[in-house]
Amino acid sequence: EQDVTEYKKSLAIRVSGFDVPRPVKTFQDCGFSAELMKAIAKQAYEKPTPIQCQALPIVLSGRDVIGIAKTGSGKTASFVLPMIVHIMDQPELGKEEGPIGVVCAPTRELAHQIYLEAKKFAKSDGIRVSAVYGGMSKLDQFKELKAGCEIVVATPGRLIDMIKMKALTMLRTTYLVLDEADRMFDLGFEPQIRSIVGQIRPDRQTLLFSATMPYKVEKLAREILTDPVRIAVGEVG
Ligand code: ADP
Ligand code: MG
Repeated sequence: EQDVTEYKKSLAIRVSGFDVPRPVKTFQDCGFSAELMKAIAKQAYEKPTPIQCQALPIVLSGRDVIGIAKTGSGKTASFVLPMIVHIMDQPELGKEEGPIGVVCAPTRELAHQIYLEAKKFAKSDGIRVSAVYGGMSKLDQFKELKAGCEIVVATPGRLIDMIKMKALTMLRTTYLVLDEADRMFDLGFEPQIRSIVGQIRPDRQTLLFSATMPYKVEKLAREILTDPVRIAVGEVG
């Protein structure tokens, strides 16, 4: 019985916000393209995880989201899949300007994981994904960004370096994700995050994911998100 209680607690989902879209039960409910459905099937993702059930329709509706859920709950696909849809919805994909989607993550390992996840779903649609983090040649990164891309997955420090080198501008960016925001704060990236956010047009869609919501992160979220829906899964937030 203890186990059942613990299990129910782990599934507890609290959603708050104005006029929140209904959760989905299946990926079919999301209205994804046939190509994207094929890529999802290839991952053997049978059905969305609890946070994906809540977050997918909300993010797909264009709303800002604060997502609070522990590691392993499937947060990545809940922002990567709608990012692909968001990009495919743009009228002029071919133009070589800066990224449409920008994802910031605290470490190169996490950025690399997100990069791989984005590549899986972007491949079939011809969306270019660039990874921008330390430990890779700045010149190679510069050249890759100059050639153009639709998605950049980056650690904040290296992204700032690339912006300073004029490898990219964020004039075209309309979809911003701050992943593992609490860890980015712990690592001292708050100034870099603020600088990056300040360079992205205010009419963007902004998503902030975090395992915990300390006051500093909550304060940033309130400053940079517009009318967000807050989704908290399990015993957090
Ligand atoms: P988080 O960012 O919340 O820590 P991830 O997005 O990294 O979690 O996902 C954790 C693991 O679950 C990954 O291996 C991912 O491939 C897998 N996963 C994500 N969504 C699903 C799904 N709908 N069905 C099955 N596995 C999934
Ligand atoms: Mg994650």
